[in-house]
Amino acid sequence: MIRKLGRALVRRCPNCGASGIFDGYATLGESCPACRLTFERHEGYWVGAVAVNTVVTLGVFVGVLVGAIVLTWPDPPWTAILITTVILNVLFPIAFYPFSKTLWMALELTFQPVNELPQPPETA
Ligand SMILES: [Zn+2]
Repeated sequence: MIRKLGRALVRRCPNCGASGIFDGYATLGESCPACRLTFERHEGYWVGAVAVNTVVTLGVFVGVLVGAIVLTWPDPPWTAILITTVILNVLFPIAFYPFSKTLWMALELTFQPVNELPQPPETA
C-alpha cells in the first residue's frame, strides 16, 4: 500500500510505477502505457477521487486554520486568515486534482487488486 501511495504522490501509475500516465497536468490517459491498467475501472469510479480531494482539502484547511491561530495567538489576524483560507480552499483542490486521481487509484488497487477484478468477456 505504501509503495502504491508513493507512486501516486509523484503522479505515476500506482500499479507499476510507470510515468507518463497524464496527458498534460490534470488529464489522465485511459490506461497505463506500461502495464495496460485501465484507469477508470467502472462507471462512477472517479467519485472516489472527488472524495479523496475533499478530505485532503479539508485536512489542509483545518491544518492551516489551526496553525495560523496557534502561531499568532492571542491576537490572530482574522481577516488575513479568512482571505488565505478562502483562496486556499479554491486553489488547492484544483492543483491537487491529478494527485487525488492517482491516490484514489492507489487506495482502490490496494483493496481491490487487478487480478481480483472480474474480467471482461473475451472477444473473438
Ligand atoms: Zn502501470
